[in-house]
Amino acid sequence: MIEKENPVCNYCSSKKVIPIFYGYPTSKDYQDYEKGNLKFGESIFLGAKPKWYCKKCGESF
Ligand SMILES: [Zn+2]
Repeated sequence: MIEKENPVCNYCSSKKVIPIFYGYPTSKDYQDYEKGNLKFGESIFLGAKPKWYCKKCGESF
């Protein structure tokens, strides 16, 4: 589930924060991904799954 209001980055306070999507993406998820509004979660995140990705500093939280 994707929330409408994106938070600011925990690390740099940027508002360029996009949701991280886990699971099987729909075509709409792909559209958001291609627009840069969504990031697909990867298996490098073992255990904790961050919900948000900062496009400015590259941190996930
Ligand atoms: Zn940041």
